[in-house]
Amino acid sequence: MTAITADNLGRAAIRLPMAMFWPALFLAAAWGATAYAERVPQVVQGLLIYLPHAISLVGAVIGWRFNRSRLVFSLAAVSIGHWMMTGPASSIRPGSSGEIGYMAYALLFPAGLMVLSVLKERGLLTRHGVTRTAIFAGLSAAVLALAAAEQWLVRDIAANVQAVAVQWLSVPMIPSGWIPETGIPDLAIIVFVATTAYFIMRLIVLGNPPLESGALGGLIAGGMALHFAGNIQAVSVFFTAAAGSMLIAAIQDGYRLAFVDELTGLPARRALMMETMKLGHRYAIAMLDVDHFKKFNDTYGHDIGDQVLRMVASRMARVSGGGKSFRYGGEEFTVVFPGKVTEEALPHLDALRQSIEDSGFVIRAKDRAKTKKAQKKTGGGKRVSVTISIGVSERSDKHPTPETVTKAADEALYRAKKGGRNRVAK
Ligand code: GH3
Ligand code: MG
Ligand code: MG
Repeated sequence: MTAITADNLGRAAIRLPMAMFWPALFLAAAWGATAYAERVPQVVQGLLIYLPHAISLVGAVIGWRFNRSRLVFSLAAVSIGHWMMTGPASSIRPGSSGEIGYMAYALLFPAGLMVLSVLKERGLLTRHGVTRTAIFAGLSAAVLALAAAEQWLVRDIAANVQAVAVQWLSVPMIPSGWIPETGIPDLAIIVFVATTAYFIMRLIVLGNPPLESGALGGLIAGGMALHFAGNIQAVSVFFTAAAGSMLIAAIQDGYRLAFVDELTGLPARRALMMETMKLGHRYAIAMLDVDHFKKFNDTYGHDIGDQVLRMVASRMARVSGGGKSFRYGGEEFTVVFPGKVTEEALPHLDALRQSIEDSGFVIRAKDRAKTKKAQKKTGGGKRVSVTISIGVSERSDKHPTPETVTKAADEALYRAKKGGRNRVAK
């Protein structure tokens, strides 16, 4: 899943707006608060300046607890930007001390969000984490030092350094009239646009991971805050939206960690437990198990085994008849049919079994040929058959609870295996 395909795009058309729901809501609220600034009560206005810091702190604590260094860094960046733009860089005039800090930040904020998304997550209190913290702290210190240079360096040297840096950063690159009047340097705007495109592509390809949509929301809101430089209330409101998008992402990401299976993307065991709590008096539960799965692992290795599981899960996600699929654990899966009895679930389960049998899983060597032609030459991938066995049971007087129904389904699964596999038993 590393390409933009028609299938990906189709799903993205539905999922992208859903993924951006919270960031969009925050942005809309921020926009409204800025447009109707005079109607925002005095008390709220007073508190507003602290809000980005407070939200960033909460989000960063969650990020830290879930070992998501990326969240901690992005939220720290929001906090630093907000502090700088409501403090040292709050009055941006050409030649003012804050200007260069502002410009450097405008460039580093989007670039940093992209880098954090590209880099593999390595936690915070690890060697990598410490290195990244050092780089982050170094960059932040450099930006702040530039912004505040006049206060602690020899004045004319500082002014010279600032002037040169401003000159570099404010080279015109975008023809005038292409974009609305803004103080954000052209170079930074180009990085903002590129990063936005990058995140949209990421969302399409990866199927809306919360951290990506949160980062995209943060990116846009941060850009708006930069655009409103000088208007402290608007800056506060948009940095609040940036931190808010990322905080929601942190919460959604934590939810996913707990309820979504990482390997297959299917809801995990815990989600199944939640689902069974909602079931009424009429439901069927099916247990699925990949046939001779150990053989796949032993013959082709664990990675191929994982690929098989992903393929099976992708078919299961599309099970018909209102069935809800879960990864129970290992190579075992569960489908719950709320409101259905065994007889009603059977045809859907058999269609699922058939679709997996028909899928024709192709084993691809690690160093597989890159082009189709070359693949043909080398024999391409080896086609192997993947099948599953299914046992299904329903709620009845004999099996009155989800636990007992599951146990009965497990026994039926055993019979399906005994009976020759690649079949559904009840
Ligand atoms: P059958 O069910 O048809 O009786 O045979 P089987 O070979 O599938 O038997 P069994 O259920 O005992 O084998 C399950 C194997 O699944 C054991 C373990 O190595 C493998 N397995 C469990 N979880 C994972 C996983 O997440 N990834 C991979 N690659 N293998 C897994
Ligand atoms: Mg098994
Ligand atoms: Mg098995």
